[in-house]
Amino acid sequence: MFIFDAHIDTLSRLLTRGEKLEDAQGHVKLEDLQAGARAQFFAAFVDPQYYHGLALHRTMEMIDLFWETLAAYPEALAFAGSAEEIIQATAQGRTACLLAIEGGEALEGKLSMLRLFYRLGVRLLTLTWNFRNDLAAGQWEGPQGGGLSRFGREVVEEMNSLGMLVDVSHLNEPGFWDVLEVSTDPVLASHSNAHALCPHPRNLTDQQIRALADRGGAIGVNFCAAFLEPSAQATSEHVVEQIAYLLQVGGEDCPALGSDFDGISQVPEGLETYNQIPKLIGLLEKRGFGAAVIEKVMGGNLLRLCREVLG
Ligand SMILES: [Zn+2]
Repeated sequence: MFIFDAHIDTLSRLLTRGEKLEDAQGHVKLEDLQAGARAQFFAAFVDPQYYHGLALHRTMEMIDLFWETLAAYPEALAFAGSAEEIIQATAQGRTACLLAIEGGEALEGKLSMLRLFYRLGVRLLTLTWNFRNDLAAGQWEGPQGGGLSRFGREVVEEMNSLGMLVDVSHLNEPGFWDVLEVSTDPVLASHSNAHALCPHPRNLTDQQIRALADRGGAIGVNFCAAFLEPSAQATSEHVVEQIAYLLQVGGEDCPALGSDFDGISQVPEGLETYNQIPKLIGLLEKRGFGAAVIEKVMGGNLLRLCREVLG
């Protein structure tokens, strides 16, 4: 079965620790990426220590690492910038690798940087991390952090015209609603869960889930234990619960995967590493879901969104 995950922080891990993918000691290993038909968004995460002067520089380093990694394993990994290229890569038995940026700080206030990032292969931007930036405010700022700035609106519009996925994970609520109003394309929450099952500020309310799904968007279920269960004592069943809930509230075109592997410290029991992701197929079958729905959740919904937005 085709598996497509919307968010991992492996680039961050590799760059910070100086590891190579073939000897990475984190959640994601080279051989796991190669197991079966796969597509994967790699996030270039802008760590707050690089804000105010080095955000662009750090992002460029991470984009270089992405391309160097693809060049190092040409038989295993292939760049994909469109749904067509995802299908091509998997038909060749290679993992389709898509590039994302997590944190609009990377733009350093310029739409020109967004356009250059697109040329460098970036197809998704998570507008904020947890704080306010010159696009919008992250959820740690609360509603008083405000919604999209004028620049943030311009970024969303430019992303729509370039064919990039707008990612609303990490945004505060006013920002979320502004994005839904401004974006002419469906949007993605690449790694977020349902607030009703786990009342963490990073998670989405039913109202948000419905509105995003009504506009054709998708939500990648995050495996971070604290976003699955307030005590952080989570298991793979909590992930299944999230998927079942998103199916119920958002419909069968809404749930996807956004594991956040290599970006989280507490993982669910039974889904500790990237190579465990296929276990979800059996768990969803046991829960009574049919093959067509499971295929959508495991990758079909994200692929459909890429087809609509990336062109
Ligand atoms: Zn994140």
